[in-house]
Amino acid sequence: MSLMEIIEVPDPILRQQSQPVEDVNDELRGLIKNMLDTMYDAPGIGLAAVQVAVPRRLLVIDLQEPESEEEDAEAVRDPHVFINPEIVYRSDARKSYNEGCLSIPDQYAEVERPDIVRATWIDENGQRREGEFGGLMSVCLQHEVDHLNGVLFIDHLSRLKRDMIVKKVVKARRDKEKAAIL
Ligand code: ZN
Repeated sequence: MSLMEIIEVPDPILRQQSQPVEDVNDELRGLIKNMLDTMYDAPGIGLAAVQVAVPRRLLVIDLQEPESEEEDAEAVRDPHVFINPEIVYRSDARKSYNEGCLSIPDQYAEVERPDIVRATWIDENGQRREGEFGGLMSVCLQHEVDHLNGVLFIDHLSRLKRDMIVKKVVKARRDKEKAAIL
């Protein structure tokens, strides 16, 4: 198992536009495996490559409840890999969901997004895929595709709320570093 470092706000890497993946090869599949390991370890339900400092249009999602303590956690895993995903339809109906992000640790906020989306992507075998998603999968996919465009869930909030959340993350990290020195 190989874990990658997850980049946190306000690192400018998170604001980069990710570039399309050109070739689905073993090197990419290795990266996908490391991203899944990193996501399960965090634990989280979605991770975009740019969050581990690889600005390519690639993301992984697994909506199974993260239960890293469970012995059979691996048995219930249901990983989804999206390469070069494009959202091609967004419903007018919107829904709000309490979102968090591995790059914005321990902070959550209600974000309103289109309820249903349709997407196209390439899977880890290089096959072109298309699907329609609702519920948590729709929320997660939109959140992760935002990452590929340098957009974070806090960008959907007021400027005041956004600045407050980033300040809290920076302060928490500084406190943790101080504690480590003592
Ligand atoms: Zn995120």
